[in-house]
Amino acid sequence: MGLCMVSLISAVFYWLNQNKTTAAETDGRYVVVLDAGHGGNDPGKVGVDGTLEKDINLSIVHKVKEYLEAADVTVLLTRETDEGLYQSSDTNKKRADMQARCRMIEDSQADLTVSIHQNSFHDEAVRGTQIFYYTGSEEGKQLTDSLQAALTSQMGEETMRVPKENREYYLLLHTSCPIVIVECGFLSNWEEAAKLKDESYQDQLAWGIHMGILRYLNKK
Ligand SMILES: [Zn+2]
Repeated sequence: MGLCMVSLISAVFYWLNQNKTTAAETDGRYVVVLDAGHGGNDPGKVGVDGTLEKDINLSIVHKVKEYLEAADVTVLLTRETDEGLYQSSDTNKKRADMQARCRMIEDSQADLTVSIHQNSFHDEAVRGTQIFYYTGSEEGKQLTDSLQAALTSQMGEETMRVPKENREYYLLLHTSCPIVIVECGFLSNWEEAAKLKDESYQDQLAWGIHMGILRYLNKK
């Protein structure tokens, strides 16, 4: 009987403790998924100077993560290294990779997701940062507005392109939380490609993106 009581009490304490730990980890903390586009055998866009989009994406994502964590936000990354989210046995690696990203985002029940990419265009003169959100999504639009405002004050108005709705991007189509794609710049433009490789320029972008995320979360 005595032993039984002891086990019951320790079971209750165990449960309380477990609950406390869980609560402490998530209570009041926002969860943000940061997605570094491409990776592994998929370089993304290749710049005029040979810069690979996947590397710039990952570098910026790590910087945004640091800033958000300093602001007490829980951050999940779809990839932390130069690895795609596919298995070597997958016949369609791109599809497997995109499906895995969407699954991670859905499972995380995140408050929002920001996917980081770099752009490219046949006309070398085209440049600037552009944000995409799912057509008709009110939350996507609000997140876009917050990011656009924060990035405009951080990077300057001349750097920002007009945000666009999109109904084709896989990630926008197959996720349910507020999500945007930030194309930070054009690797097809010599000057912008050089900037995008620069640590301090990446840092400025990351600061702007994290400010935009915080502004959106604070308005929720
Ligand atoms: Zn991309």
